[in-house]
Amino acid sequence: MQHKAFRCLFIALTILCGFGCHSKDSSLEKSRQAISPASIDESRLLHADDEPGNWMSHGRTYSEQRFSPLKQINEQNVGQLGLAWYMDINIRRGQEATPLVIDGVMYFSTAWSKVFAVNAATGEKLWSYDPKVPPEWALNACCDVVNRGVAAWSGKLYIGTLDGRLIALDASTGKPVWETLTIDPQYRYTITGAPRVVKGKVLIGNGGAEMGVRGYVSAYDAETGKLAWRFYTVPGDPAKPFESPALEKAAKSWSGEWWKLGAGGTVWDSIVYDPELDLLYIGTGNGTPWDRRARSPEGKDNLFTCSIIALKPDTGEYVWHYQEVPGDAWDYDAAAPIILADVTIDGVRRKVLFQAPKDGFFYVLDRATGDVISAKPYTTVTWATGVDPKTGRPLENANARYEDGGKGAPLAPGPLGGHSWHSISYSPQTGLVYIPVQEAGFLYKSEQHFQETGLAFNTAIDFVAAGMPQEPDAKRSILASIKGHLSAWDPIQQKEIWRVDRTSPVNGGILSTGGNLVFEGTAQGGLEAYRADSGQRLFSADVQSGVVAAPVSYAVAGEQYVAVVAGWGGVFPLASGEPALKAGRMQNVSRVLAFKLGGKASLPPLPQFSQPQLKPPRPTAGAATVKKGEALFQGYCSTCHGDVAVSGGVLPDLRYSGTLGNSAWTDVVLGGSLQSFGMVSFSRELSKEKIEAIRAYVIFRANQSLAESKLSKQ
Ligand code: CA
Repeated sequence: MQHKAFRCLFIALTILCGFGCHSKDSSLEKSRQAISPASIDESRLLHADDEPGNWMSHGRTYSEQRFSPLKQINEQNVGQLGLAWYMDINIRRGQEATPLVIDGVMYFSTAWSKVFAVNAATGEKLWSYDPKVPPEWALNACCDVVNRGVAAWSGKLYIGTLDGRLIALDASTGKPVWETLTIDPQYRYTITGAPRVVKGKVLIGNGGAEMGVRGYVSAYDAETGKLAWRFYTVPGDPAKPFESPALEKAAKSWSGEWWKLGAGGTVWDSIVYDPELDLLYIGTGNGTPWDRRARSPEGKDNLFTCSIIALKPDTGEYVWHYQEVPGDAWDYDAAAPIILADVTIDGVRRKVLFQAPKDGFFYVLDRATGDVISAKPYTTVTWATGVDPKTGRPLENANARYEDGGKGAPLAPGPLGGHSWHSISYSPQTGLVYIPVQEAGFLYKSEQHFQETGLAFNTAIDFVAAGMPQEPDAKRSILASIKGHLSAWDPIQQKEIWRVDRTSPVNGGILSTGGNLVFEGTAQGGLEAYRADSGQRLFSADVQSGVVAAPVSYAVAGEQYVAVVAGWGGVFPLASGEPALKAGRMQNVSRVLAFKLGGKASLPPLPQFSQPQLKPPRPTAGAATVKKGEALFQGYCSTCHGDVAVSGGVLPDLRYSGTLGNSAWTDVVLGGSLQSFGMVSFSRELSKEKIEAIRAYVIFRANQSLAESKLSKQ
């Protein structure tokens, strides 16, 4: 999508009257008529509950409970919900953003870190901004070119871009005010998370723990873009001065030359501010590479990977940490959403935080001290039997470490997590936390002779061993085991109150509301509403594309809306192959949709997607070449084109590629002829011989699939 010239007349109108001019009878809008767009200050964010019609920061309030007190739409009338408006987004990649809605204007980001402003009552586009991320930077992203949201402060919006920039935009025009590079571009960092603004500083982290980077979170002055502080989450080269006393201590929990591979611990999603205790909580990702022996040969805990860390927001100074997964070897990031709440436990009022991270345990921590109050499995967990209440350490199963080589360890959860970044919600009305749970195990096995390489996943994990088997019974059994559910979890009793089974993992994030409702989009393209207390299904709409983002609720002119950004994509559709194909809608129809009571808009009919025919060249390569190609494909290609060469529906399925039988294969893979679409040249990583082996493997797989489809038709 191109950056569109702004319409001058509209600017003049909006400056004169604010963005709410089109609507009638809105006291809120009238009161803000003299205020410029996104005029967010500390007081408004601190008192966000006084403005239930707005959604001013990523999790609505600083507590990030994602609970909207609005109740015009409620358990009695939600069946009358209809589409108010929709706006198509001409980007066919995963859409993970939570929109902000401020005084009648919706701001949201999309894949490729683009930003849109639309009239929240009508869907009319006000402006858009394209940071022009170089398409080839996509190769540094573990999990699609997604973006999870913007932040607002003092007439500006902030977007972190996939290529590591933090950009402040004028909220009235979408024009950049300042831009700063938050990363060293010689490393494979990406930003996909939403910035947060705390006390006049913009906080942003980054991802890349599959790509050999060192994690950190940075704070920038919201007005000027000047770096205020940076906190590294893992120690660097001990020959140089440590950046903080906390890191000097953390270095004792590592061995070998960990810093050479980056060490990981990236802060790629969760950054939450606690105004009551004046603390910032960040969630950190896995160690790099995943196999601990490849980064810290003598084992050890590897602080502060897979941890929640409390920092002082003014200085970035360390206060406490809790490591959920010491010495992680399973990609069990602790980067999942963190929710702050005040709850009564054993008769005592406690300030706690909740997290349901990838490792499968639901954690309740005392947020003043970081002490574990309780931790119980919210889904099937086979890597540990529990968490020691005294030490807070997991009780690992003897077979969980796959470090002795051999056949590896099939474990649950897998790297997808029992739950990952998808937003969870806490309803203070029901006292329940709503979690989009994923059920997908994984075979963890060390990659023999691991060596760091560019443009590949650097995990030291054998992705050939973990790939989908083609033996029919084994495949059927694995596919049947990969699913999900929406869980209503009691965080005090640590038990499930109700659940809705899902046919697949990777459904949307959650919104709960004052109308006793829980909203969730699904991988199959539904937006659904349930009674928050009982799980009774009350509403469902077809949005025509898998939803992974979280809905929000807001009000304009006295009318409540529920909106969601749809667009099937992210790591699961890109990388998991057949399970994603089985789970979601094949098509990506990226759009934002807003619903209200009695909404009468309708979606256009879906374009007919014709099922392509498999017409692969005849296989000519020998078994050894195909085997070599399989290892290369799984290492270099599968994270975008799908496990064992089955695309999950977002990027081209290479089994169907017209390049398999001609020289275009070489033009694309070595010549970079599709670079403008994000498919860069691999000429530095792969020789002609290697790309021919990959071609031979894809031809083999295409013929195998063709034979299978003929068999199933018989
Ligand atoms: Ca990770």
